[in-house]
Amino acid sequence: MRTQVAIIGAGPAGLLLGQLLHKHGIDNVILERQTGDYVLSRVRAGVIEQVTQDLLDEAGVGARMHRDGLVHEGVQICVDGERHRISFKDLVGKTVMVYGQTELTKDLMDGRAAAGAPTIYSAHDVALHDIFSERPRITFRADGRAQDISCDFVAGCDGFHGVSRKSVPAGAITTNERVYPLGWLGILSETPPVSDELIYVRHPQGFALCSMRSPTRSRYYLQCSLAEDIESWPDERFWEELKPRLDEEARERLVTGPSIEKSIAPLRSFVAEPMRFGALFLAGDAAHIVPPTGAKGLNLAASDVQYLSRALAEYYAEKSRAGLEHYSERALARVWKAERFSWWMTMLMHRLSDNSFDHKIQLAELDYLFRSQAAATAFAENYVGLPY
Ligand SMILES: Cc1cc2nc3c(=O)[nH]c(=O)nc-3n(C[C@H](O)[C@H](O)[C@H](O)COP(=O)(O)OP(=O)(O)OC[C@H]3O[C@@H](n4cnc5c(N)ncnc54)[C@H](O)[C@@H]3O)c2cc1C
Repeated sequence: MRTQVAIIGAGPAGLLLGQLLHKHGIDNVILERQTGDYVLSRVRAGVIEQVTQDLLDEAGVGARMHRDGLVHEGVQICVDGERHRISFKDLVGKTVMVYGQTELTKDLMDGRAAAGAPTIYSAHDVALHDIFSERPRITFRADGRAQDISCDFVAGCDGFHGVSRKSVPAGAITTNERVYPLGWLGILSETPPVSDELIYVRHPQGFALCSMRSPTRSRYYLQCSLAEDIESWPDERFWEELKPRLDEEARERLVTGPSIEKSIAPLRSFVAEPMRFGALFLAGDAAHIVPPTGAKGLNLAASDVQYLSRALAEYYAEKSRAGLEHYSERALARVWKAERFSWWMTMLMHRLSDNSFDHKIQLAELDYLFRSQAAATAFAENYVGLPY
């Protein structure tokens, strides 16, 4: 098989890149280790920045998001039982869209099917060869036989545990990492959200987040230890832990119900540099991870794809390598800003130690955020997403 761009991974990064390349008339094949149903069953991100929405529109897959997504003009932060609101609309004139990653992935898959572009699901033993040559190759097993794709470029969109980043010689890559001593225990339930806006909760017992996917489906998170066993968290225990962390109004409005999904996600900050190695370009979680506190993971995957799709379009239309040469530098400049914001929000909102000094500093910083127009504006700018 021969294609112009071989894309590894059918998560948001790979699917969106495939769709944008298709719009530019660039041939691409996606190789995905899992089945399509499995990819669609993963409950993950839910906050979509304006620039990501624009990119989904450009890819021709934004219609359902605009119809079913929830526009949020602000966010609420509850500190020790008292709620404060930060209005993005008033401070920076922008909003975000709440629309589940699962729905967005479905829209991208449907768009790809309509375009007739090939995705090979259940592709096993994917291996990258000759990435520093003009003719890179991918080998893999699918449908019970060994197969082979030659291409001009490889897009490594295969997430944090994928094969692409691991294919780079150790001396060519630098990794920067911080692992936090905590995780998020999340549940999805078929219950109306407790509020029209997300509520981030800072509480002495630990962080909580009241989020949603639709007017009838809620997503809640609790800070938990990394050693936590999901089996020891029946739904009743989750709700009982959540309630005391909320303010009185939220506690009264909270509708509990059976969970339809429950999982624990560890919190990690990670950046691999550079993001290009010869003909291999890393994008999304394959290159970087943010703790979910700032709602940036999916949006960063989209911004990498924006830079990469434009660079590849420029290469094929004008034979210019300028965009490809600058891809890593451009993507990383935005990545590090989102890393900083996500790290800052994580440090601000979680119970990270028993040290009273740390707690008082968190409270002082939150007080500054609520009182200072400049601090609130900086928060809003980062939360709604910086321009490309
Ligand atoms: C449990 C969890 C919860 C999250 N919650 C949030 C949140 O609330 N807010 C937020 O903003 N972000 C969240 N994120 C982050 C967000 O979901 C990711 O940033 C986003 O999915 C990145 O997209 P991606 O396409 O780069 O990677 P992924 O979505 O990870 O997609 C990579 C794809 O590559 C495939 N793959 C892996 N290895 C191979 C291989 N060897 N061969 C072929 N295919 C392969 C995988 O199966 C997968 O389909 C969460 C992530 C996780 C894991």
